Amino acid sequence: MKTQVPVQKNQKYDVEVTDLSYQGLGVAKIDDFPIFVENALPTELATILVTKVKKNFAFGKALKIIRQSQDRVKPIDGAYTQTGIAPLQHLAYPAQLTFKQHQIQTDFAKMKLDVEVAPTIGMETPYHYRNKAQIPVRMLNGRLQTGFYRKHSHDLVPIEDFYIQDPEIDKAVVIVRDILRKFQITPYDEQTHRGVIRNIMVRRGHYSHEMMVVLITKSKKLPSQSDLVSEIVEQLPEVKSIVQNINPKATNALMGEKNKVLWGKGSITDQLMGLTFEISPNSFYQVNPIQTEKLYQLAIQKAQLNKDDTVIDAYCGIGTISLSLAKVVKKVYGVEIVPEAIEDAKRNAKLNNITNCRFMVGKAEEQLAKWQKEGLKPDVIVVDPPRKGLAESLIRSVAEMSPQRLIYVSCNPATLARDAKLFSEHGYQINQPIQPVDQFPQTVHVESVTVLERIGK
Ligand code: SAH
Repeated sequence: MKTQVPVQKNQKYDVEVTDLSYQGLGVAKIDDFPIFVENALPTELATILVTKVKKNFAFGKALKIIRQSQDRVKPIDGAYTQTGIAPLQHLAYPAQLTFKQHQIQTDFAKMKLDVEVAPTIGMETPYHYRNKAQIPVRMLNGRLQTGFYRKHSHDLVPIEDFYIQDPEIDKAVVIVRDILRKFQITPYDEQTHRGVIRNIMVRRGHYSHEMMVVLITKSKKLPSQSDLVSEIVEQLPEVKSIVQNINPKATNALMGEKNKVLWGKGSITDQLMGLTFEISPNSFYQVNPIQTEKLYQLAIQKAQLNKDDTVIDAYCGIGTISLSLAKVVKKVYGVEIVPEAIEDAKRNAKLNNITNCRFMVGKAEEQLAKWQKEGLKPDVIVVDPPRKGLAESLIRSVAEMSPQRLIYVSCNPATLARDAKLFSEHGYQINQPIQPVDQFPQTVHVESVTVLERIGK
């Protein structure tokens, strides 16, 4: 039996937008059939063109906004709309913060969990925040260009001002681009899988102002290597590290496994929470330092730590959370899957004269099971997983170890709510408001801290 879909591709409709999807698309309904509309906001009346029709929903784009939302602001730049660098740039910042708070409420409601969500803690200046850029390099009409991909494609849109990045990083990307042009380095071509330079990655310490430039290449050989290096060093005095990362694969994965230090150090340092951190090219490091400090402060405060406590920091990266709380507890155990990150974490402990942390390379779900078998009894566990959230087996191990409290730092409310549901079945509940902290202004990403407490003693 086939039900009739009420809309057709390439047809225009006048609709009222009633919601904003987690991807930042306006949601309109015709006969209960949802249409996801680019560049449309709740309360708006719009003429839309349906661009794609699926069985249970359709996509469209707004041709004309007949009645505007009070929260609509003028987009900063058309290129951002084309590329999706800043998918919420048309929404006023206070409304972005409310959107993120609601997103968490919606995901918990879907799980039938009744929780309170506090208003999102925002940024005073909600742009120019990213301390890291990963910029594709492509040939466009015979010229080497840097920029960003057009939405739903790999066509490059040239961009010099990325708006959400540290402006010093934007300048560095343009300088490196011009140096690549000068020495006629061939950009990578995805179609033929040929060419030399695929991406430029730049990281800059928010406090230290140390800069790292990573040239991600298809080939092992980097023509004019010494000229490139000396020009970069000369034109970018903040650069402390130049690395070549070789990624020979025809994949979407940005970085390959092999790094070659071309000049300077193999890592840069930055400060966070009053501590010094070394950061290697492949290690994860939070991209918004100002908001990260707010996030960590909250996480530590909510953990209610004592000097006799043992803490596990699962998904510890280069040890930023572990080392930030090490001073106030007896012992911290950190686990992380990327070996370079654990090397960084160990060096960072030394660098900061911290001796009560133990860092292990491994999958958090496997290491927690091991620790549990060995009889480790943490008082508090901190988890900060990637978007896919926690493995069910990790949740079981946590429950077996039965810490008083679990601090869940999440970058994806959907998996947070799913995991919180499982925790509730294992005797852990949320007694205080979930706190969103906006780490990614102008985008749809939602970061938050949740405290899960053991029921009973
Ligand atoms: N807490 C750190 C890192 C958080 S990002 C910080 O705030 O800086 C998540 C980290 O989890 C990344 O470093 C990633 O490499 C790591 N990771 C991903 N899957 C993992 C797994 N299964 N086990 C352990 N670590 C994992």
